[in-house]
Amino acid sequence: MRRVSILGATGSIGQNTIDLIDRAPGAYDVVALTGGRNIAQLARDAIRLKADVAVTAHNECLDDLRDALLGTGVEAAAGQGALVEAASRPADWVMSAIVGAAGLPPGLAAIQQGATLALANKETLVAAGPLVMRSAYQSGSTVLPVDSEHSAVFQALGGEAMTSVERVILTASGGAFRDWPIEKLHSATPEQASTHPNWDMGQRITIDSASMFNKALEVIEAKEFFALRPDQIEVLIHPESMIHAIVGHVDGGMMAHLGAPDMRHAIGYALHWPDRAHLPVERLDLAKLGQLTFRAADTTRYPALALATRVMERGGMAGAAFNAAKERALDAFIGGHIKFTEMAEVVARVLDVLEADLGHIEAVFDLDNILKMDHLAREEADRVMARAL
Ligand code: NAD
Ligand code: MG
Repeated sequence: MRRVSILGATGSIGQNTIDLIDRAPGAYDVVALTGGRNIAQLARDAIRLKADVAVTAHNECLDDLRDALLGTGVEAAAGQGALVEAASRPADWVMSAIVGAAGLPPGLAAIQQGATLALANKETLVAAGPLVMRSAYQSGSTVLPVDSEHSAVFQALGGEAMTSVERVILTASGGAFRDWPIEKLHSATPEQASTHPNWDMGQRITIDSASMFNKALEVIEAKEFFALRPDQIEVLIHPESMIHAIVGHVDGGMMAHLGAPDMRHAIGYALHWPDRAHLPVERLDLAKLGQLTFRAADTTRYPALALATRVMERGGMAGAAFNAAKERALDAFIGGHIKFTEMAEVVARVLDVLEADLGHIEAVFDLDNILKMDHLAREEADRVMARAL
């Protein structure tokens, strides 16, 4: 039996992972499930899957979790330390599906104990790419991409040498506002931004898709995961979300990966890798679809994309600063404190301040300094928003 843990089990990716595990009862020995405030869901899944331990991120939820697990044999725990402890428990395969930089310490712990890490949490690579890849190399852990575009690149590569790769094209649906006039974007509400045309995902990544901060994170994620140069990564708007990525080779050949927009494909691919197994996803009928369309991504409409280039060129701690500032700006947008279009302005201003301090940006690239930069960028974002906006 394969020992598996799911970090962020109560979220959209976590629930899709559980859906796949549920279809093969007896094949998996569930070690740890983690969640946030949805204690009923966490406890229900932990009991049904006979997990060893269930962890909530929030200390104040521990009593509720203990009550829900009383007499079931599933251990209850809470807090950041408990998340890392649970991720450190020996497992063969760990799904990293916490949202935000909060996923970094437990994901890293899973890598350090040598598990195969199925990485949905893109923030891990944006904030700490070199550290994560180095840790995986040292512990012998395999990191497999779960973000659909990166899973698509991985599959389209088919094991070919990276030296033959000229370019990688990440597709983007364009998000909720792709057809809105640019002048109207400032009036977009969190509710409007929380509806995705093609994918069913958590609220934060859905809003990030509307602003293309999600694609900006993914561009950086691709650079870190596949060791690409910034100029090798392109973004292409593809409203149908059927092609997830394209790998362009030095001889002009292009390998595209197609599939229905269902995260269970990328999750299932990572779960069964290096084999493939039957997955319960829709099969594409291309004749019925008729056509697939493409357009260029416009950095005026999507300033987040230009910020990604800036971050990649700056290197060092810029990724950690970028992600943390983005998380705070997103919190403020969801809370109704700033406008949709102000998120990119906030992030740009935070980068202006933090990039100027070489002591911070070029600090030794370890977890402590990354978390320090994360903290600084959040504070700076709050200052920027309190001041000007
Ligand atoms: P979600 O909001 O649906 O779920 C997030 C999970 O993380 C929940 O279990 C929640 O309880 C937990 N969580 C939230 N804050 C936490 C904290 N501070 N500490 C510990 N746990 C916390 O998110 P999602 O859409 O499933 O996305 C999860 C990750 O996967 C994100 O990094 C996202 O960018 C990435 N991703 C998601 C999709 C998708 O289709 N949903 C696709 C590609 C990549
Ligand atoms: Mg993606």
